Amino acid sequence: MNTICIMCPMGCPLEITESGNVIVVKGNTCKRGTDYGVQEYSAPKRVVTSLVHTETGKVVSVKTAELIDKKIIFNVLDALKNIRIKLPIKIGDVIIHNVCGSGVNIVATSSIE
Ligand code: SF4
Repeated sequence: MNTICIMCPMGCPLEITESGNVIVVKGNTCKRGTDYGVQEYSAPKRVVTSLVHTETGKVVSVKTAELIDKKIIFNVLDALKNIRIKLPIKIGDVIIHNVCGSGVNIVATSSIE
């Protein structure tokens, strides 16, 4: 597979292949690119950002506190879709603990009184 390393602004183009049981990353210019390529090939992960509604109708921006498995992104978005949270909310407040059993929390990235 071909992709771009997103670990720094250099954006090195990566070519990732599998030879036997070994994942081979080419095109990177540092070890972070190797690590990113191996993860992207074997178990891609993402930070998910979204908006959730409050009881007053305002919306609060949120994100996963850590990377989550790319396979459960839509489950996480579904979990966020129908909740209504109480105000006030401060940056860093946990909105959902262990979202979708991922072990990762959803946290607020904005504050609303
Ligand atoms: S391989 Fe290294 S230099 Fe290239 S984008 Fe990734 S982190 Fe940056």
